[in-house]
Amino acid sequence: MNLKNLNKILEKEPDFRKKQIEKLIYQKAIEDWNNATELPLNLRKELSEKTSLKIKAKLVKSKDAEKALIRLNDNYQTETVLMKHNKGNTVCVSSQVGCALGCKFCATAKIGLKRNLETEEILEQVLLFKRNYKIRNVVFMGMGEPFLNYENVLSVIKIINSKNAFNIGARRISISTAGIVEGIEKLSNEKLKINLAISLHAGNNKLRERLMPISKKYPLELVLKTVNTYIKKTKRKVMFEYALMKNVNDSLKDAKELSKIMNHPLYMVNLIKYNDTKEFKAPSKERIKEFKDFLKNQGINTTERYRFGRDIWAGCGQLCLKK
Ligand code: SAH
Repeated sequence: MNLKNLNKILEKEPDFRKKQIEKLIYQKAIEDWNNATELPLNLRKELSEKTSLKIKAKLVKSKDAEKALIRLNDNYQTETVLMKHNKGNTVCVSSQVGCALGCKFCATAKIGLKRNLETEEILEQVLLFKRNYKIRNVVFMGMGEPFLNYENVLSVIKIINSKNAFNIGARRISISTAGIVEGIEKLSNEKLKINLAISLHAGNNKLRERLMPISKKYPLELVLKTVNTYIKKTKRKVMFEYALMKNVNDSLKDAKELSKIMNHPLYMVNLIKYNDTKEFKAPSKERIKEFKDFLKNQGINTTERYRFGRDIWAGCGQLCLKK
């Protein structure tokens, strides 16, 4: 799609036509303007020429997930993942090609940042799956740091949420951030009831700085202070993601430290069994259980993430590892 061209075409159309076209794109999810027989022929032609609905994608499927590699106009690729729960499907979208943050354990970091994704390039990731599935949730947990592409991410969220477009409730939309404080602040001033998740992975600054260099700029105290203001303003719960890595952040001492800073009624800890890479490995099942039980016994709201699509390199932190 080319949203700029689309908006220009819509400008000269009456309101009912705008709504009709939005519904065709996002709800009926048509793949070709020629199928929109309810539109006048000359309009269909103009739309096909200026805002083609074709998405160049390669799909890789597994039992419970599907990964799409989407080819962009400048030949970069973006990756998006569909996760099939029994409750409904979730699309995990990328907000950038690559990532600038350099987290030591994440495959996306290895390619560095190529560029931000445009609004339509993020939208197309949802649209592609919408053409074959019902979509219940959208999470910004793919490649890139959503808060470093704030404006585009927010305009995507507004379209995902809009009644005429995807019509997915704000509570079914989540953003995950490595802790970009300005982004958290901005989000707390939007009137949007979406979910916020923070990638934590460590309970002290020394370890967190080693794993996530960006925490030198945004230390834990500052991130948590900003999250608390966000909670005050929005009354929303906040999720903290903690990927358990063997002999890195999985000891009882780590759990103790974590439980101290997570002691807040509206914090939730989401433990992720690390998806192995060359440098880091997941702890044993027993160790994960010990870690989880410890947090629970301390009264911390703790869940463990079900892992989708690891066999097709679609799991957390695996985007960009294999093509
Ligand atoms: N940049 C944002 C969005 C990415 S979300 C953020 O950092 O939050 C992807 C999540 O997967 C992040 O929490 C990331 O830290 C985590 N992750 C990265 N590599 C992983 C791996 N190999 N196994 C499990 N989780 C991983």
